Amino acid sequence: MSTQRMPLVAGNWKMNGSSELLQQFSKYFEKVTLSGCDYVLCPPNVFLSKAVASSSLTKWQVAAQDVSHCDEGAHTGDVSTNMLAAIGCEYAIVGHSERRVDHGESDQLVAQKALKLVESGLIPIFCVGESLETREQGEAQDFVGAQLNALFELLDVEQLEKVIIAYEPIWAIGTGVTASPEQAQDMHAFIREQLKQKHQSLSDKVRLLYGGSVKASNADELFSQQDIDGGLIGGASLKPEEFEAICRSACR
Ligand code: PEP
Repeated sequence: MSTQRMPLVAGNWKMNGSSELLQQFSKYFEKVTLSGCDYVLCPPNVFLSKAVASSSLTKWQVAAQDVSHCDEGAHTGDVSTNMLAAIGCEYAIVGHSERRVDHGESDQLVAQKALKLVESGLIPIFCVGESLETREQGEAQDFVGAQLNALFELLDVEQLEKVIIAYEPIWAIGTGVTASPEQAQDMHAFIREQLKQKHQSLSDKVRLLYGGSVKASNADELFSQQDIDGGLIGGASLKPEEFEAICRSACR
């Protein structure tokens, strides 16, 4: 973890949780003092306003789990970046592998969502990551490189500086199998090198998160790697104590 970038931990509840769980989290985090890191809650859309309302006491920031690439119109079920901004949401995850797989989202579409977010003043958490098959074929870097290129083609350097990139190997998401700290660091170093080739400022400023079966018990080791600036957490973000402990591992 570098000292020049503020560490960040984001808890992706996916399609889990309830009003009651959010209430429990709010009460818990009102009593918690965490400094030296940003911590972000990503509940389902229906709970976003409530999460924003409690943020003055809990001090968390709030992210949506996805967003439309369109401004408005006939897009049933979708939510626009401006709608998220209007309720005080500051981030949105885009390109989570579950959306890429379940909803057939392409690299180009995910990049369009990231652009729309930046244009609306929100921060994209842009997910990349390879399948086990791709890794076993020795093509993990090419695959992640292509996902990044779609982003680099659409956003200029100033816009890219606002993006957070989350490396989430698909084989480690929700499986209990975590990438080893070395595997995670290797890919993070590769991503940072791609950023550097685009522009030095990107390599210095863009925060890189690791995601995939992060728990309180392995967070320290992962977050101590040079190019890992925090984590995107799924299952372990559904328990307040566990999520707090992971955030603490990221705080400097
Ligand atoms: C995720 O969904 O982004 C994730 C990393 O999940 P988990 O922590 O459960 O592997």
